[in-house]
Amino acid sequence: MDVKNEIQNPQALVEKGVILTTVEAVFNWARARSLWPMTFGLACCAIEMMSAGGPRFDLARFGYEVFRPSPRQSDLMIVAGTITKKMQPLIEVLYDQMPEPKWVMAMGSCAISGGPFVDSYSVVKGADTFLPVDVYVPGCPPRPEALIYGFLQLKEKVENPNRVRLKKYGK
Ligand code: SF4
Repeated sequence: MDVKNEIQNPQALVEKGVILTTVEAVFNWARARSLWPMTFGLACCAIEMMSAGGPRFDLARFGYEVFRPSPRQSDLMIVAGTITKKMQPLIEVLYDQMPEPKWVMAMGSCAISGGPFVDSYSVVKGADTFLPVDVYVPGCPPRPEALIYGFLQLKEKVENPNRVRLKKYGK
């Protein structure tokens, strides 16, 4: 079979062990399995985030344990805790310093909506008022399992950027 016929018959290529894909799909496959979160916590939810990275919950099983101390080495910002109005400009600077592509996770009621401090004069009513949040992890605080579930939802999104609705993990 000549090359032209092989291209017109992808099944024949597959049978020969040839995989057809795009560079972007390969990159997204790798990115989805090696997210590097920024070492960054704002309040009590950050304790659960740290626990997720410890040996009991073992975030390393999924390839997400490499928390980086610099935004320039991170592709995921987990907003874990209460966002005060004083902290908001600093969070924006950190986000701007992260290279593309990058993602944001809002962990806990405070990061999603202001949580128990929603009526406070000093608290921002959710990370999505100034950041493009990709995944919301509800709870006060969410347990490490919930954060890991959020990671797996983000994995789906990174790997399938054109899919609008995230499918439930495992189904
Ligand atoms: Fe603390 Fe609850 Fe706010 Fe998390 S959501 S930072 S546990 S008050």
